[in-house]
Amino acid sequence: MAPPGRCRGECPFSPDDQDGRLNNSEILNSRYDLAVVGAGILGLAHALAAVRSGRSVVVIDRDVQAVGASIRNFGFVTITGQRRGATWGRARRSRDVWVEVAEAAGIAIEQRGLLMLGRREDARTVLEAFMATEMGEGCELLSEGAARGRWPVLESAPLTAALWSPHEVRVESRTAIPRLAAWLAERWGVQFLRPAAVQSISLPLIQTSRGAVYADACVVCPGADLVSLYPEAIAAREVSLCTLQMLRLASPGVTLPGPLMSDLGLTRYRGYADLPEASALATQLAAQQPLHLEHGIHLIVVQSADGSLVVGDSHHYGDTPGPFAARAVEDLILDEFQTAMGFAAPPVVERWTGVYSSALEDMFMATPEPGVRLVMVTSGTGASTAFAIAEETIADLFGHSRESAA
Ligand SMILES: Cc1cc2nc3c(=O)[nH]c(=O)nc-3n(C[C@H](O)[C@H](O)[C@H](O)COP(=O)(O)OP(=O)(O)OC[C@H]3O[C@@H](n4cnc5c(N)ncnc54)[C@H](O)[C@@H]3O)c2cc1C
Repeated sequence: MAPPGRCRGECPFSPDDQDGRLNNSEILNSRYDLAVVGAGILGLAHALAAVRSGRSVVVIDRDVQAVGASIRNFGFVTITGQRRGATWGRARRSRDVWVEVAEAAGIAIEQRGLLMLGRREDARTVLEAFMATEMGEGCELLSEGAARGRWPVLESAPLTAALWSPHEVRVESRTAIPRLAAWLAERWGVQFLRPAAVQSISLPLIQTSRGAVYADACVVCPGADLVSLYPEAIAAREVSLCTLQMLRLASPGVTLPGPLMSDLGLTRYRGYADLPEASALATQLAAQQPLHLEHGIHLIVVQSADGSLVVGDSHHYGDTPGPFAARAVEDLILDEFQTAMGFAAPPVVERWTGVYSSALEDMFMATPEPGVRLVMVTSGTGASTAFAIAEETIADLFGHSRESAA
């Protein structure tokens, strides 16, 4: 189909324009079927679902380029370990969309799968229990010897068992998100108004710091901004903010089997942690690694095309993100790396923090006023679930496709 909206015919974006910016004068005072507030993964996913159902879309973001959680994360589209039920299902659907979109948009899939390293007997018990659920389908539970035989890099890793999940994909978020935005503009005619802060919504009027935009409907995906739009609706969900410390380590000189996690993840990821068998492991970890638990540390290690590793993370909760990244927290992450991997962590080459919205439920969609949906992922799962959430929102908002998508 031809791109919907105003970008019919020759697209005004140059191939070099990675942010999907457009001459703003063409957007101000124009009218769209849908305005999306926020150009993180959740906003972009909504733009995709809407254009695929035949709607014209404008995406508005206060930043010139993506700088939020969506580019600070691991880029790890995680399925195994997600909370049983809706979140796990959304992750499976979103993974399928990621694979389609990555190929179409020229986004590299950097890694596939997930290797969960169990180093305690109680961790093996949790992994065995997980394998007995429907979520274990397609996964393999390997003995210590089998895991070492398949992946020599685990030679010195202390293991009782290892779970291999084939379901995951990983992208390099800091390049994938701008590429996704550019592809939405080039291929689908999505228009981007940035930098522009949305100040108020009274459909069809969307008032921004740059001027007015008009739309029949609006989806607000504000990420970690809890105060600018619909603060009461957000407060009603008891949303707070979670700050994470992240590291990039130099290449260890070996290729990892895939993204890796350690025992600590078995008590954080709800797909394992909600199993009754996880309580013994939680008790053991509280006794053996109290500082790691105090700082919400669990280990995720992913590898980039140049061999370097993105390693994290910690979790500190509050109403405003703390500005400082503590060396002591970093040391705890590196300690877990060394213990789980069985070799010393390579030098740290980059550090950053990230912030995401957090609440008891993994996500919510609210209707603060007719025609408007407020959508937030309130757990660290947005890269894994955004595409499926967006399909649900667009179906809820419009009910049906206007025309079938190509
Ligand atoms: C360190 C870290 C690691 C993570 N790792 C993973 C992972 O591996 N896998 C996974 O699935 N998830 C992961 N997550 C979670 C995931 O990154 C988030 O759930 C997801 O990025 C949230 O996307 P978003 O689009 O809602 O938010 P954001 O990326 O924060 O985007 C929100 C956007 O909205 C804009 N905005 C807000 N209000 C306004 C306004 N009024 N006007 C204009 N613009 C506005 C902001 O400028 C921003 O660009 C991680 C998160 C962090 C921080």
